Amino acid sequence: MSRIAVIEKEKCSPRGCGDYLCIKLCPVNRTGKECIVKGEDKKARINTDLCTGCGICSNRCPFGAIHIVNLPEALDRDPIHRYGENGFHLYNLPTPIFGKVVGVLGVNGIGKSTAIKILAGILKPNLGKEKEAGHKDMIDYFKGTEAQLFFEKVRDGKIKASYKPQQVELIPKKFDGKVKDLLKKVDEMGKMDEMIELLELKDFLDTDVSKISGGELQRVAIAATVLRDANLYIFDEPTSYLDIKQRIKISKFIKGLADEKTAVIVVEHDLIILDYMADLINIMYGEKGAYGIVSQPKATKTGINVFLDGQLRDENIRFRSAQIKFTVRPVPKERIKPVLVSWKGLKKKLGKFDLAADEGSIKKNDVCGVLGENGIGKTTFVKILAGVLEEAKGIIDRKLRVSYNTKYLESDSDELVASFVNDAFQKYDVQLVRPLELKDLMTKKLNELSGGELQKVAIAHCLSQDADVYLLDEPSAYLDVEQRLLISKVIRDFIEQRNASCLVVDHDILFIDYLSDELIVFDGRPAKHGNAKGPFSMAEGMNMFLGDLDITMRRDQESQRPRINKPDSQMDRKQKSEKKLYYA
Ligand code: SF4
Ligand code: SF4
Repeated sequence: MSRIAVIEKEKCSPRGCGDYLCIKLCPVNRTGKECIVKGEDKKARINTDLCTGCGICSNRCPFGAIHIVNLPEALDRDPIHRYGENGFHLYNLPTPIFGKVVGVLGVNGIGKSTAIKILAGILKPNLGKEKEAGHKDMIDYFKGTEAQLFFEKVRDGKIKASYKPQQVELIPKKFDGKVKDLLKKVDEMGKMDEMIELLELKDFLDTDVSKISGGELQRVAIAATVLRDANLYIFDEPTSYLDIKQRIKISKFIKGLADEKTAVIVVEHDLIILDYMADLINIMYGEKGAYGIVSQPKATKTGINVFLDGQLRDENIRFRSAQIKFTVRPVPKERIKPVLVSWKGLKKKLGKFDLAADEGSIKKNDVCGVLGENGIGKTTFVKILAGVLEEAKGIIDRKLRVSYNTKYLESDSDELVASFVNDAFQKYDVQLVRPLELKDLMTKKLNELSGGELQKVAIAHCLSQDADVYLLDEPSAYLDVEQRLLISKVIRDFIEQRNASCLVVDHDILFIDYLSDELIVFDGRPAKHGNAKGPFSMAEGMNMFLGDLDITMRRDQESQRPRINKPDSQMDRKQKSEKKLYYA
């Protein structure tokens, strides 16, 4: 069995642990050998040849900076890539297949972006050595597999990759100018007009790239990727910032790119969308920050169910201690619950935009999901209820305390996490601090957090306020699948224990389905007018919402997760004829 030792350098703080605690404790060091030493960068460094794998250092490091991992026997070979001596190890790669969309599914920090950057030719792999691997090394490494053929094509110059990065918000930092200028610059295919039409970019072509919204930036980035003359298109999280209508359109668009001369790879955290878009799935598992392994490709339905199950039965590998389970909640019995906030004939004008809401209320103990397109007034509605926006016309009965988290999480603040979520640390250790793993973030400043970390901190901050209604705006953004489902559970349990209510605006249907008792559905025209309807029961609300999208959804028999039916399939037609668009 081979062993790897990984040190997360940004977590290693010798001053904070009492001057190299690991060196003092390592039994091999105590015999006079140099198993753990001070590195040139002043961080701990481990000599794997001397390490016996006792695990004392990783158990005792107060910052969880050390990972000592005994790898499964099947992995008794060099990694594809290693970031330095005690750095992250990546094993295997997803294999692009012509004519297919191959999805990559795994938690954050497991090496997904590293893997696809290698396929895109942006990162040169080193096979765990000090120098870059050449074509011959890669071909030999993958001998006898589908990947061997792929790397032979790379060697022969027959693969041209085009890659959409994960963080589209960084594009304005690299490109200064109008949207149309960016597209012109990359248009190797002469298909700019077609892409503008297909991806609905017309309205903001003359706008500066730095001035467009996240959803617009995402569509521009996808267009720019596809305008390049390539036969391998790689998309890292193509649906962030998009609403559900746009997610479905983009999925169809990406699916349509794969043909006998073109391969597509997609990393995506929205499981319903990944399921809809991919033909095959590579699961990535391992230990966050330490190592990642890519599984053999599986049919999409099986791959997602294996991921939720947490184990690769054929390989006899369990990569998560618990299954992720979906249970179909029984329709709640009609009970009279106290009303916490209500509205009737609500109207609000903001510039050229009109918002209206018929009659509705939020009741005690309810988790109410909010679904609708971007620019249709969801956030405005939430802000009115929260009292952040001035009172609208209409009746709002708001005799309650509201806690509200904003959708945009960018933070320039150098306040410490420990101080920002002090209330959570004081009062909700079991409910918030432990499940959200906030202790690991305590000593970081807000402006040092990743998107996912900031999201968890923002949710903890919102929930730890004393309030009757909690309003969460896009809490799933920046989170991976496991984190989304964990957050749903944290929110549900918290609301139940606090005897409060929660309103959740989000675009991930699976997340909303997992979390909500009721639904508010928005319709209208983006940037013109929006109409809030409901709350309805989940079935009624989803029926209304899916009718507008012209899709139907069923539950997977094995995992009970919601899935989109193939258009015009037997199930699709049956559900439409029975007017049961949401899980039959
Ligand atoms: Fe201290 Fe942990 Fe760094 Fe070792 S790895 S020096 S115990 S912070
Ligand atoms: Fe030393 Fe290895 Fe044990 Fe860590 S796991 S204390 S490095 S022998």
